[in-house]
Parts: sequence; structure tokens; C-alpha cells
Amino acid sequence: MRAAIIDGKARAAALRVRIAAHVAHFRAQAGRAPGLAVVLVGDDPASAVYVRNKSRAVAEAGMAGFEHRLPADTAQDALEALVDCLNADPAVDGVLVQFPLPAGLDERRIFTRIAPDKDVDGLNPENVGRLAAGLHGFAPCTPLGCVMLLRETLGDLSGLEAVVVGRSNLVGKPVAQLLLRENCTVTVAHSRTRDLPAVVRRADIVVAAVGVPRMVRGDWLKPGATVIDVGINRGDEGLVGDVDFAEAAEVAGAITPVPGGVGPMTIACLLRNTLVSACRREGVAYDKEL
Ligand code: NDP
Repeated sequence: MRAAIIDGKARAAALRVRIAAHVAHFRAQAGRAPGLAVVLVGDDPASAVYVRNKSRAVAEAGMAGFEHRLPADTAQDALEALVDCLNADPAVDGVLVQFPLPAGLDERRIFTRIAPDKDVDGLNPENVGRLAAGLHGFAPCTPLGCVMLLRETLGDLSGLEAVVVGRSNLVGKPVAQLLLRENCTVTVAHSRTRDLPAVVRRADIVVAAVGVPRMVRGDWLKPGATVIDVGINRGDEGLVGDVDFAEAAEVAGAITPVPGGVGPMTIACLLRNTLVSACRREGVAYDKEL
């Protein structure tokens, strides 16, 4: 195998250690812990696992977790009323509503409702605009984790050709914005892109966020490219990414595995955003490199 493995699990663990140290500093300054409220509606098993992992990570970082579980038949108004309550609660620095919501609930109305300064998932249109405008705000956690892994692997990203495959609001578009901020030359590819393999072959950096198992093949890659595989696809063989790992690892310079790549960074970045929110709200200084 040619490629170096980008060990997201180890990188996320190191980030969580730095965050826990900052949390201790925050608690000493502010006299309280940073607080994250997580709302789970319904009983989707994958969402329940994500929420459990997030709550555990919050506790391990020394933060306060507030978990709210609501039945699948919760009305839109009731969910919005809970979000309003959390927006107003001074002990809560971050509000996260786990998506997807059960059928009948309007996700867009929920992420628009979360106060922008507590929107640690970075989905509120105000934060989307801030990211695009290069202003302070919150970037979504998975894209943030991808770019942290790239910076740790490659150092300065200036001038590199980056191809992002996928243009979702959750991953593809914000990854592209963050890479632009890093001075990459960014192409965003999607299901209507013509000759996708040729587009991907131009890239020094490939970020795959598609949701199609093993779609990106080894012969699509420029030798030495750095590959970030965001995909999480559950199948008979367990979890696989959007990149054919075995093929890609023979061509790429560095690659994230699935699992153990981007996933652990997502949770660490959620803690990071919650800590940053708490520091901003209480006027406590924080390390901008976090
Ligand atoms: P979406 O389904 O919202 O978006 C998928 C994107 O891929 C769309 O832009 C779509 O294009 C594009 N696409 C689909 N098929 C093709 C194709 N054949 N060729 C080129 N582009 C294609 O997915 P998400 O962005 O939410 O998630 C992507 C993947 O990342 C999923 O596997 C998801 O599970 C995973 N994920 C992982 C996270 C983590 O923490 N590791 C967090 C979030 C997501 P178009 O717009 O034209 O339809």
C-alpha cells in the first residue's frame, strides 16, 4: 500500500485532549461548564447511536450535556417551543437537533429557529452566510473536521487543486467554502458533473461526500493525491466509504479510512464549536487554532 493512513481517531482524540484542557480553563473563568443541548425526536436507531456518542463525548470533555428525547409524533410547534427554551437558557451554549427528523416535521424551520450564536452545527442560514462571507460564525462540524485533517496532513493548502464530490448543505458546500478560505482552487462536483473521473484526476485534494459506496475508484486519482472520505454507507460488509479504499490506497499519498477517519473528527468539532460558543458568550479568551 502506497498511501499514508490519516488516523482520524487519533487526531480526534488529541483534539479532545486540547479541548478538555480549555474547558477546565473556561470553568475556572466563567464558573460554569460549557453546555450542549442535544434533541432527539423519534427512535431512529442510527440517530440514537449518534446522540449517545455525542453525550458521552460531552461528559468526557467536562462539559454539561442536556439531552431531550421526544416521541416521533411530536408536533412542529412543540419542537420549536423546546428550541426557543434552549435558545433562552443561559446554561446552554450549543443547540443540536439530531437530523433526520421523523416525517411530518420541517427540518428547515428547525435549523432556522436555532439561535445563530448557539448553532454549533452551523446550519442556520445566518451561519451559512457568515461562512461564505468569511465572517466569524459556526461552520458545520464534519466539514470543519475534514479541513483540520487536511491541514494536519498537508500543512499550508494554498494553491492546491481541491475537488469536492457532493454539494449538500451539510457537507459538500461548506467543505468547499472552508477550502476556499484555505486558498485552494475548488471544484464542486455532483450528480450532473460530466466525466467525473477526469475532474477528480485533476485534484491534489479529493473530498468525497456522496453516499454511494466505493464510488471513487483508484484510477480516478492523481498519484499522490490526499483523499478525505466522508461517506458512511452501511451494508452487508459493515461500514464502507464513498471511496474504494483498497484501490485508492495504492495511488493516493494519504487517505482517511472508514470507519476511523472523518467520523471521530465530527464529534470532536462539535465539542470545539460548543467550547468556542461558550467562550464567545462569556467573553473568555480561547485558542483560535482549536
Ligand atoms: P446528500 O445525499 O445530501 O448529498 C449527496 C451529494 O452527492 C449530492 O450533492 C449529489 O449530487 C451527489 N451525488 C450523488 N450521486 C452522485 C454520483 N453518482 N456522482 C456524483 N455525485 C453524486 O449526502 P450528504 O452530503 O449528507 O452525505 C454524504 C455522505 O457523507 C453520506 O454517506 C453520509 O452518510 C456521509 N456523512 C458522514 C458524516 C461523518 O461524520 N463522517 C456526516 C455527514 C454525512 P446532486 O446534488 O446532484 O444530487
